[in-house]
Amino acid sequence: MNTMSNDDFVIARPAAPAVPVFGGGLFPVRRIYCVARNYAAHAREMGADPTREAPFFFTKPGDAVLPVGEGQTGRFDYPLGTQDVHHEIELVVALCAGGENLSPEAAEECIWGYAVGLDMTRRDLQAEAKAKGRPWDIAKAFDQSAPISPIRHLPGQVLQSGEIRLDVNGEARQCGDLADMIWGIPEMIAYLSRYFRLQAGDLIFTGTPEGVGPVVPGDRLEGRVAGVGALALEVVARPG
Ligand code: MN
Repeated sequence: MNTMSNDDFVIARPAAPAVPVFGGGLFPVRRIYCVARNYAAHAREMGADPTREAPFFFTKPGDAVLPVGEGQTGRFDYPLGTQDVHHEIELVVALCAGGENLSPEAAEECIWGYAVGLDMTRRDLQAEAKAKGRPWDIAKAFDQSAPISPIRHLPGQVLQSGEIRLDVNGEARQCGDLADMIWGIPEMIAYLSRYFRLQAGDLIFTGTPEGVGPVVPGDRLEGRVAGVGALALEVVARPG
């Protein structure tokens, strides 16, 4: 079926993104889907009304992942073109199967495991995009915009509660509970599959609790999700 060799590519083939797994091995990343406004308090802090507006989706490219190994501190380069980069701590679901129009029960069987992620956001560019009715890509889909911990293999498990938090320089910035998600995990996978054919290797960032805010070079971020793991990151100034 696929008989292409590396010799057939007219330029060097880009490396396929992958994320380490707790205990060893690599999880290959296909697409990154993200849920917006999945925690009511965060929707309100962004000026939205969660009683009138449902959560919704946007995407990042698969190679936006910034994998951080177990016990390591990742380096997040302060991104180009912004003066206001925000942290959003999120639970990430990793899929080992997919399909279209999945039931919530079928969606559960697509769950391979979970990771701790950060949906890094150029908030100034997002505000401009919102004001002008433009897409969010420039705010959300930049290089290294998806720092991620190793993935914990929890096949078919639905995480329904547990603390999700982010500390910056040792001080609590975001602290919530997975129980506060508006869309539960099977529901969001099922909903997404009504619009996209999901596949093994897809990641879903499931939204952030309240308390988002800016980071600056030198900041040290530590995110945690109960039962999943931790993600440590240092913000590094861009040279020049
Ligand atoms: Mn987010």
